[in-house]
Amino acid sequence: MLTVGVDAARVEDRLVDGGLGCPGCGGELRPWGWARTRVLRGGPAVRPRRSRCRGCGRSHVLLPVFALLRRADVVTVIGAALAARAAGAGVRTVAAALRRPVDTVRGWLRCFAGRAEAVRLVFTALLVGVGVDPVPPAAMRSVFADAVAAIAGASVAVRSRWPDVGAVPGWLLAAAVSGGRLLAPGWP
Ligand SMILES: [Zn+2]
Repeated sequence: MLTVGVDAARVEDRLVDGGLGCPGCGGELRPWGWARTRVLRGGPAVRPRRSRCRGCGRSHVLLPVFALLRRADVVTVIGAALAARAAGAGVRTVAAALRRPVDTVRGWLRCFAGRAEAVRLVFTALLVGVGVDPVPPAAMRSVFADAVAAIAGASVAVRSRWPDVGAVPGWLLAAAVSGGRLLAPGWP
């Protein structure tokens, strides 16, 4: 699994030109068919490209950066739920505001809560690593909120280091940094 940009044509060009590296060994990824089409709520239908590494032979699905592994909603919607929860909103309020099933939203919140401290550490390290005069976020009301604040802080830090990149929405950064596994088993 490799998280790639939103522009499918550009991703295809890079793949064909040998410009994408294997996340496992750094070898060159080659086109290798397609994964099945997924329709994401709040986003377009995507048919992710599959690739195979010339070095280690492993296959990798190229997941667009707005998608998370095993989740049917785009990361910006899931991120909005996490941010609202961090600000103190209840699960029913969040679900109603985003027009998503309560159980679905509860699943996101529970999963994120279970790994909040690890997520906080990953994004605080990124923030401190890339930031120009980085200021780690102050402690919030909960570890959950600390983790959300670290993601937001890291996206500000990335913008301060590489202004040409433009504003990287925090949740797209979270998807990219986690390789689409922000809410998938085994990450961080
Ligand atoms: Zn490889």
